[in-house]
Amino acid sequence: MGDCLFCKIVDGEIPSEILYEDERVLAFKDVNPQAPVHILVIPKEHIESMNDIDESNSHVIGDIFAIMRGLAEELGIEKDGYRVVNNCGRFGGQSVSHIHFHLLGGRQLSWPPG
Ligand code: 5GP
Ligand code: ZN
Repeated sequence: MGDCLFCKIVDGEIPSEILYEDERVLAFKDVNPQAPVHILVIPKEHIESMNDIDESNSHVIGDIFAIMRGLAEELGIEKDGYRVVNNCGRFGGQSVSHIHFHLLGGRQLSWPPG
């Protein structure tokens, strides 16, 4: 996926502040944070969106949730609480077509979302 921004972050072509990395998953700070803690967690494999999740690739999504739970603890937001967001497609507000989960915390978040 030559022109994918997050694939370029995975490859190190675009620098990022990495908080967690293993063979299949990368977590890095969002460049435009919407909360004191705003981390993006992605599979290294290019998966476009939630619409492309099936039995063949859902394992990594489970891994991502376990990793986000660990990051929440590491970053000290687990007690007060936090939010995990996935924006899918145009109506969901997805602006980068490589599936990613936002981990947001460190302040009171409002509901419903816009
Ligand atoms: P989306 O709107 O697709 O759910 O989320 C995309 C997120 O990627 C946004 O929160 C945006 O701030 C973040 N983002 C866009 N470009 C970059 C970048 O080059 N580096 C980092 N670290 N985050 C980015
Ligand atoms: Zn990609």
